[in-house]
Amino acid sequence: MAINIEPLRKILELEYKKGYVDSAVIGGLDRFLHNWAGQAIEPISNHQLLDRFDQLHLANSNYASLTKQQRKDWVKSVLDFLAEAEHREAERGKAKPTPVTSRQPSRIRTQTAVVSQSIDSPITVIRGISSSLATKLNKLGVKTVRDLLYFFPHRHLDYSQRKFISQLIEGEEQTIIANVWQAQEIRLGGRRSTEAVVGDETGNVRVVWFNNPYLAKKLPTNTRLVLSGRVSLFNGRHVFESPEWELAEDKELIHTGRLVPLYSLTQGLRSRQLRKLMKGVVDQWAWQVEDFLPSELKERCNLLELPQAISQAHYPDDEIAMDKARVRLAFDELFLLQVGVLSKKRDWQESQPGSPFSAKTPVLDSFLKSLPFTLTTAQHGVLKEILADLQKPQPMSRLLQGEVGSGKTVVATAALLMAAANGYQGAFMAPTEILAEQHFTNIGELLSRAGHQEESESYLSSYSGLLPQPVTVALLIGDINQARKQELQQRIQDGSIDIAIGTHALIQKGVEFHQLGLAVVDEQHRFGVAQRSALRQKGFSPHVLVMTATPIPRTLALTLYGDLDLSVIDQLPPGRQVVKTKWLQPGQRDSAYSFLRRQVANSRQAFIICPLIEESEAIQAKAAIVEYKRLSEEVFPELKLGLLHGRMSAAEKDEVMRRFRSGELGILVSTPVVEVGIDVPNATVMLIESADRFGLSQLHQFRGRVGRGQEQSYCMLLAQNPSIVAKGRLDLIEKIQDGFALAEEDLKLRGPGEFFGTRQSGLPDLRMAKLSDVALLELARSEAIRLFEKDSTLEKSEHSLLAKELARVWPEAGEWS
Ligand code: ADP
Ligand code: MG
Repeated sequence: MAINIEPLRKILELEYKKGYVDSAVIGGLDRFLHNWAGQAIEPISNHQLLDRFDQLHLANSNYASLTKQQRKDWVKSVLDFLAEAEHREAERGKAKPTPVTSRQPSRIRTQTAVVSQSIDSPITVIRGISSSLATKLNKLGVKTVRDLLYFFPHRHLDYSQRKFISQLIEGEEQTIIANVWQAQEIRLGGRRSTEAVVGDETGNVRVVWFNNPYLAKKLPTNTRLVLSGRVSLFNGRHVFESPEWELAEDKELIHTGRLVPLYSLTQGLRSRQLRKLMKGVVDQWAWQVEDFLPSELKERCNLLELPQAISQAHYPDDEIAMDKARVRLAFDELFLLQVGVLSKKRDWQESQPGSPFSAKTPVLDSFLKSLPFTLTTAQHGVLKEILADLQKPQPMSRLLQGEVGSGKTVVATAALLMAAANGYQGAFMAPTEILAEQHFTNIGELLSRAGHQEESESYLSSYSGLLPQPVTVALLIGDINQARKQELQQRIQDGSIDIAIGTHALIQKGVEFHQLGLAVVDEQHRFGVAQRSALRQKGFSPHVLVMTATPIPRTLALTLYGDLDLSVIDQLPPGRQVVKTKWLQPGQRDSAYSFLRRQVANSRQAFIICPLIEESEAIQAKAAIVEYKRLSEEVFPELKLGLLHGRMSAAEKDEVMRRFRSGELGILVSTPVVEVGIDVPNATVMLIESADRFGLSQLHQFRGRVGRGQEQSYCMLLAQNPSIVAKGRLDLIEKIQDGFALAEEDLKLRGPGEFFGTRQSGLPDLRMAKLSDVALLELARSEAIRLFEKDSTLEKSEHSLLAKELARVWPEAGEWS
């Protein structure tokens, strides 16, 4: 085992830096030394060193009571000793180089041990971890010592409330220190168990451990025990039921009498065993974790040192220390995320020259004038931001957030026209084929107002009168037959198509652009970071505009999409009304149907969203077909219904959408594919089945499908048997109309990561950070920006550890170190 000099040296150096105020270790230096000294002395082989080690009296040091000058001298003498010990061991190593042969003399083994093992070694270097234990830990994702140190408990039990037996209260978690009077094996409900009677100066209490007969033998009379757990009442008397127990010795408590960590377990791993292991590992190794945050940052933000934070996250001294530990570790995650994200943005903007467009083109004006409405102030503002970006030599990288129906498509169309006017191609990607088709239709309508439609082949239209040459728009989706698809791809490649609209198919292999100048990505949340960069590589560093109707609170957006600039359309076109939203009881289904019938009789239209089925799209489609049959034959035999699901061919979907849009169909029964973007202003009713299974923002998306015209619209939610959490969501969606306010609430309801699966978005994992912790998010972000302004490539020496850490946690983010 190593004579582990590093931890002590680091702590003493810190103590020196902090001015000898005994703040380098939580709990004080003395306590640390008592633990450390016992382990350190074992491997010291040199007699002189041993003598000097003894003289330092580390195991019963009294640092706390020394004067400042005395502390200074003492720290110096210990540091001198450590230097000498290290020097001697190294000398000895030189004198007798390690033989390559397998068996090493024990003295040389001591030498290699002094050079402390890296915390990136596999966990088998830890004493007490056998290969079978290592296998179990591997299952929990723990491979290296570092992984183990970062294997934080999911929570702590508060066993810190010590009571006398006479003070015990039923039902609460409490700790006592008591003597065993008697312990024996008994049968309880047919199970072999242990029963004991223990006492302190205030009384006695019975303790039982179910199913654990072997414990009786470990508890001879007069053993001093610490017991922590819940007390219950049995026949009018207190009894401890299966409490955690621990011998009351001089050692630090691990299982009782404190905040006790609870770790995730796996088959064959017991919590007592894991706790004991973790305590040893934390004491022995946490001090070797290099603190990568610059010290001035730590001071400014009042953050714990990293080794302290790690050990306090496992075995906190108290609630306050536990909280400070969490803050430090969460800060690390958010800060590293931010620095990574900022560097991505820089790489993107600096390494690739963009294509500056000229805005001096009459087409913009004539396009805006031709619209059947005037842009809202918010749309104007955002368009201005986008146009400014497009005229810069760096490629635009912008996220456009806008409530459902706020009119993002018009803005995107204006930008695409500007690309065409500058002789570049534009791409417009939607998350589903239905939406791609809808964009193709809508953009076509907008363009034929400003100019006029010239020719139209399948999946392709040309518009003249806008630019000196016609503007050609193509739709590229999976369903097109192979020959036609190849033809369209060929024309994208030779540049004769100006605007290509499609789904992911647009970034798949085989599609080459002649000169891609602008890529618009609609409904961002379906597109991960990977897709975005694939798109970027398609062309000549195109400008990228990402649009989303999933409102994300600003801070969060900046964190997750910090590589994008942010624009928000925070205003709906005039005349939009509030969609009346009602959560119905299951018994009200029939009245919902008759309400819907009345609306359709008044020439309005309705959506019915089928129950969410988690399984495959095929099963979802099947269920939708069944529901469609039931509704059209049994419920609404007199009305015309349409069906929409993901398994239909593009032509079929197209046909249904056309009939619905034209008003021929009164009701559209659909799987959740209808969720995003579909725009039929005459639709006034949205009925959602199994509304409890959807998230808040998804429900809000559905609701956004209605209320797009002048008529009062309604959203009805049906839920069979909602959970408490789901009820909370349904309450909120009933009350709140504003998408951003809903998103804030959603964030509070859902835990970290869940709101916006960080894994799926290609970002590093957040374990300690809660995305709802806005203050910490903001702090991490402002510190990251500050760092970036000072040293964006992390070349300065005080940032070298940080560069190393970034390269470790997020290698894709940039060229670090
Ligand atoms: P989203 O932001 O959800 O993509 P769309 O771009 O689909 O919204 O616009 C929703 C509807 O509002 C469309 O029918 C569009 O023509 C209309 N619209 C857009 N801007 C305005 C405006 N300034 N005034 C009135 N209607 C508008
Ligand atoms: Mg849209």
